[in-house]
Amino acid sequence: MSKFIIITGGVVSSLGKGISGASIGKLLQLNGLRVNMIKCDPYINVDPGTMSPYQHGEVFVTADGAEADLDLGHYERFLDVTMTRANTNTAGSIYQTVIDKERRGEYLGATVQVIPHITNEIKKRFTAFENDTDVSIIEIGGTVGDIESLPFLEAARQLRLEKGPQNVICVHVTLIPYIAVAQELKTKPTQHSVNKLREVGIEPSMLICRTEKPLNQHLKEKLSLFCSVPAKAVIECADAKSIYHVPEMFYKQEVDKQIISMLGLKPTQEVDPKWFDFFNKALKPSKTVKIAIAGKYAEFQEAYKSVHEALKHAGMNNDAKVEVVYINTEKDTVEDKLKDVDGILIPGGFGGRGIEGKIATVKYAREKKVPFLGICLGMQCTVIEAARNLCGLHDANSTEFDPTTKDPVVDLTPQQKNVVYKGGTMRLGNYTADLKEGSLARRLYGKDQIVERHRHRYEFNPAYVKLLSEAGLKVSGWHEGVLPEIVEREDHPFFIAGQFHPEFGSRPLRPHPLFDGLIKASLKQKESKKAHHK
Ligand code: GLN
Repeated sequence: MSKFIIITGGVVSSLGKGISGASIGKLLQLNGLRVNMIKCDPYINVDPGTMSPYQHGEVFVTADGAEADLDLGHYERFLDVTMTRANTNTAGSIYQTVIDKERRGEYLGATVQVIPHITNEIKKRFTAFENDTDVSIIEIGGTVGDIESLPFLEAARQLRLEKGPQNVICVHVTLIPYIAVAQELKTKPTQHSVNKLREVGIEPSMLICRTEKPLNQHLKEKLSLFCSVPAKAVIECADAKSIYHVPEMFYKQEVDKQIISMLGLKPTQEVDPKWFDFFNKALKPSKTVKIAIAGKYAEFQEAYKSVHEALKHAGMNNDAKVEVVYINTEKDTVEDKLKDVDGILIPGGFGGRGIEGKIATVKYAREKKVPFLGICLGMQCTVIEAARNLCGLHDANSTEFDPTTKDPVVDLTPQQKNVVYKGGTMRLGNYTADLKEGSLARRLYGKDQIVERHRHRYEFNPAYVKLLSEAGLKVSGWHEGVLPEIVEREDHPFFIAGQFHPEFGSRPLRPHPLFDGLIKASLKQKESKKAHHK
């Protein structure tokens, strides 16, 4: 029988429920258990694909093309389980399913209500993986007490009733604020949030306490008494140096052992601390490398979450700490900011704001021979830059930014021309690309066909491929021979860009070849600069 762990959040949002859940999942996995994770977001948007990155941070794309919450990225990176549509749910998508059913007459005349119709659909989503996992970890977004999350909590309560309390537990992630003037950690907000949970019929079995200061035994006992969890199940979760240290932090407090016993799970192996050792070693890299990320959300790192993680993974693989230099291409003079970086990355993006700064960034990377990786919009910028500065097409642009340009070097894909609805209609998810023999792409990936995740409407207009190739920007990856997927330059130490999002495929112990290539080339660049100065 499959078991369920419901992760709820108390006091405030942004406590890292995703990381806590994924760390529990990792530990259970290290015990030889099969784990999957499900995210439930209580907002009405059908998916976060239509939300501004300021609202929501990065939109994570699943292999089968769902636009999802960035926590799914943590799930993939921690568990190395490929996320799909079934891993991501929103109130909007649940209501949409129920309303569609109602319109088809499938409720046979019944009044359609939150209980049982919405809660039944939520439970269906909760149990999506029950046949092929030992444990499903279900994260309920938002904070306990929000009106929006009530149906999800109610569904969790029902699930526990149906499956039995030995098969469903709740882990509550909460904040223990430190009041500096009183020099005291405060438990009251947590007591209140646990009371809120109890009001809807849920008793937490474990508290994960986010805290700036260590929790002493007295405080743990107080929380235990008021919140009715054993003192041992009051877990201290201090800010970690790296998110990849959280599993070890939990391991030391026997989080996995306790959960295994609460749920009557049967581990099939002993935890091998190799996973922890790797990240402890990675904390002390011998080198550093400076990578510029040029985008319009420069000051808002959440928008480029997976890019960051992918850089970190590649850094760890090369014994290097990656220092990120943000370039706000809307405001900064890019040439000044780029002066002492070792490598440049332009991430994906939408809309024309900051686009000229991105094109100037490509020009800088190309001319000064700074290692360069372009992602999605980053690739489109390389095309515009080459067309304008190397082919004399001064008006060249993407029709996304200038619909009347004389030279639409980046244009809507044919499938996008008649799309009206904005949500879920981009070219999304996995597509293949065939890599040209002898290309940098082929060398980096070490194979002739790749599968990568996409999220875009526009593409390098095939009508300009020949002209740009003559100017040195060569297509080295094609989707089914018709869509350009990768461009690169041979007259440059490392200049490559893809129409897809490699960052989603990077894993802590298995960095993505394009990111690994960028870091290696940037380290080399740094070395040669140093030698030059001597
Ligand atoms: N805005 C561009 C497009 O829709 C690029 C998208 C992206 O970078 N993800 O094609």
